[in-house]
Amino acid sequence: MSMTLSDKDPIGKRHRSRQARIAAELGQAGFALPGTVLVRTTCGKKNCGCHADPPRLHRPYVQWTRKINNKTVTRNLTDEQWQRYREWFENARRLRELLAELETLSMEIFEQDSSDLDRHRAGSGPSA
Ligand SMILES: [Zn+2]
Repeated sequence: MSMTLSDKDPIGKRHRSRQARIAAELGQAGFALPGTVLVRTTCGKKNCGCHADPPRLHRPYVQWTRKINNKTVTRNLTDEQWQRYREWFENARRLRELLAELETLSMEIFEQDSSDLDRHRAGSGPSA
């Protein structure tokens, strides 16, 4: 069997070392809570003083929003909950960043490899 381009490893050294770095950090993952957290001083009640002019704002509180079965669910956290779980929200955000980075890297490899394969195939038959 002759050596064709598809036998060639499409993943370069630089790609491998980035993947290894991401995987190493993922391997250190702690607990992770989904969704987003926002510090708010207004509430959802339309007639509340926090929407008045001038507004009488609430003491800052942390609102946790996430999707459950495509429905947005919000929940307020107590100061104690926020102190205790803040890091878990940060962990989840970092995990999402790492996964996005890994996917971008993988897409780069795929696109590069595909264009190499296309170039190789050019002239040797109909293209898709
Ligand atoms: Zn209010």
